[in-house]
Formats: sequence, structure tokens, C-alpha cells
Amino acid sequence: TAGQMAEEFGTEAYVVGGFVRDLLLTRNNLDMDLVVEADGIAFAKKLAKKMSGRVKYHRKFKTAVVILPDGQRIDVATARLEYYEYPAALPTVELSSIKMDLYRRDFTVNALAVHINPSSFGTLVDFFGSQRDLKDKTIRVLHALSFVEDPTRIMRAIRFEQRFNFKIGGQTLSLVKNALKLNLFSKLSGYRIVHELKLIFTEAEVLGSIKRMNELGVLEAIHPLLALNTSREQVIAELERVVSWYNLLYLEPEISIWKIYFLGICMGISKPKIEQIYNRFSFSQTEKREFVHLRETIFWAAGNIMNIRGELRPSEIYKILSPVPLEGVLFIMARTTRDIVKKYISQYLTNLRLQTVDITGDDLKALGLIPGPQYTKLLYETKLACLDSIVKGKDEQFNFVKK
Ligand code: ATP
Repeated sequence: TAGQMAEEFGTEAYVVGGFVRDLLLTRNNLDMDLVVEADGIAFAKKLAKKMSGRVKYHRKFKTAVVILPDGQRIDVATARLEYYEYPAALPTVELSSIKMDLYRRDFTVNALAVHINPSSFGTLVDFFGSQRDLKDKTIRVLHALSFVEDPTRIMRAIRFEQRFNFKIGGQTLSLVKNALKLNLFSKLSGYRIVHELKLIFTEAEVLGSIKRMNELGVLEAIHPLLALNTSREQVIAELERVVSWYNLLYLEPEISIWKIYFLGICMGISKPKIEQIYNRFSFSQTEKREFVHLRETIFWAAGNIMNIRGELRPSEIYKILSPVPLEGVLFIMARTTRDIVKKYISQYLTNLRLQTVDITGDDLKALGLIPGPQYTKLLYETKLACLDSIVKGKDEQFNFVKK
């Protein structure tokens, strides 16, 4: 459809970036990026109409996103010569606008395009040796100033390297080291660093990227307190296991996996010093408060649950773990080396927290109790009492399987 529309528009259209890369790597990728050599917003509006989708756009960047009825997203960008302003990085020859568009990108493996106009539908456009790099499993930048232009590309290089099991190319690696020597990270906003860290922390495998960031000095460049040590590394390895176990059980959008790894890289940093990290990441007051709460509840609950001698009743487990956000509960699970504590946490996650009590505020009202804050307390007490009777004898199903 988009290709035919390009023809009607009298323009050229291409699918670019990660979608093409993943196509050649035979990996699934549902996000499609289109580049058109015309007004991308007008194009996106028309495409949305044709495909019964919605459109959102960014006038300033001349980009738009079409959201199809099934939820698929198609990003549409405008490739026009007049938008490119990197004289230092560009050779003097004039390039076609698709070539310029691809040249601005992060790595050769992301700089492939497929022409989608009907006349040459499916033609692969490869100006920079991208196919060779995909074959050689190499992450390579397009020009020597790439990391100067945008140091977050260093984190992106590591993310792709680890995800695809590629290697950062020799010259590119020297450029990474140079950029770090030049202290380019100090100029990066906390917001951009956090954005890239979140992307790394939501990959299926995280430890490899964290170790690589540490090896190259990226973590220290972000903040010296973040340098990896053995205990952090061990906990992060265990976090990976706990998170994939949990992901197999539940699909809960409200849990932010990145926060768990964030706790991992900050493990052992004292309360007064962690402020420096929050500031480096430009956390808002709300984000700060959230992390302070997370760390405090973990500290409190971990202290309680790990010091336990003898068996804990379901209600006691619930009392200790329910004030902790789920990210924190998973963190405690990764940190503990005691199987019994892992078992308690597994029991809490798979059962206790999900038990509902068949009593509501209305029932209490019917009993003649005056509505007020005591309701919450009463309902909580009732839940605790119920847990001990419901859950009795079901222990065997809460085995956390260790890899
Ligand atoms: P993923 O599979 O993680 O979604 P992707 O390659 O699709 O990877 P996006 O972050 O969605 O990555 O970016 C889309 C495209 O935009 C990339 O393929 C890349 O060409 C380009 N891009 C993204 N970020 C940068 C950047 N910082 N510098 C240059 N190009 C970038």
C-alpha cells in the first residue's frame, strides 16, 4: 500500500533501519520505519486513511507515526537534502536524500533500506557495506565523528553487540575509547543516559551489556560510583534468572524491569551517596521518591525475611512483602542465597498476593461498622486471617526452579 501511494505521490519510499536489519537476520520485528523523499506528514496522513489507522505527528521533525487497527506502528520520516546539517561529518559530494538519511544513522547494520515503489519493489539499498557487516557480525559506525555527534551511540553499540552476538569493529572500538577519553559522556543529559539504560535493561539478556559497559569504562563515565564489582555482578546474574522466571509466569505491564537492574547496578551505594546518582540521571522529584521508597522497603523487608528462624506463616510472609513494590520483591529474591527465603517469595508472588478476600467495604457496612479508615485495616486483617486458612498445606507448588 505504502509503495503504491509513493508512486501516486510521485516520490520514492523506503523501509529502513531495524526492520530491514532484522529481515536479513531472519528475526521478528514489528516496528516498521519508512522514509519518503517527500512531505512525510502528508504521506502518513494519507497512509493512515487508506489503512484505517490513526496518525500522530511531529511538525518540527517532519516525522509521523501511523498506528494501524491491530496496533502495529509505522514510523514515517521525511528525507530531504535541506534537513541535513552536519558539514563536518559529510563528504563534499552531494548525496541523494535517502543516502543522506542512511548516513546519519548509528551503525552500518541499521543503515540499510529496501525500496518499496512498485517499479523496484524489494530492491535492497546498501551504500555503506551493511550486508558485509551483517555477515561478519560487526557493529561499525558510518564515520569517525559518529560518537562525537552522539555519545549515546556507544551504549547502543553495546546493546546491539550483545543482542545479536556481534562484535564492535576494531576502528569503531578505538573511536569508542577515544570518545570516553575525551569525556564526552559528561556532556550527556541524565535523561538521554537513562533512556539508553532502560533500553539495555529491557533486553532479554542484560548482564553481558553491563559487563561490557564496565569493561569499556562506560559505567564509570556515567558516574564513578557505578563501576561494577563482584557482588553486583553476582546479583545481576541472579536477577536475570529471576526476571526470566517471573516473565514466564506473568505478563504484568505495571512492572518495570529496568528498575530492578537499576537497583542492581546501584547496589551497595549508601543513602547519602545515592543522591549523586539520582542527580546524574536528572530524576524528577517523583522518580526520586519512587526509588527512595523502593530502596527503603527492600531494606526493611529483606532485613525481616532474611533474619527469620523457623517457619513463616503465609500471613507473616504477606505482612513482610506486601508493602514492597513488585520490582523490590524480585530484587530481594535475587539477592538472597537462602532457598527458604526464595521459596517464601515465590509463594508470595504466585499465590499470596493474588488471593482475594470475599469481603468488601459494603459487607462491613452491613455489619453496622461506620465507614472510615478502619475499613482498610479491617480488610487487611481479614485477608491475613484468610491466607493462613486458605493456603495451609499447599507448599509444594511454590518451588522456585534454580537454573
Ligand atoms: P530495536 O530493534 O531495538 O527497536 P531499532 O534499530 O529499530 O532497534 P530504534 O531505536 O527504533 O532502533 O531506531 C530506529 C532507527 O533509527 C535505527 O535503526 C537507527 O538507524 C536510527 N537511530 C536510532 N537512534 C539513533 C541514534 N542515536 N543515532 C543515529 N541513528 C539512530
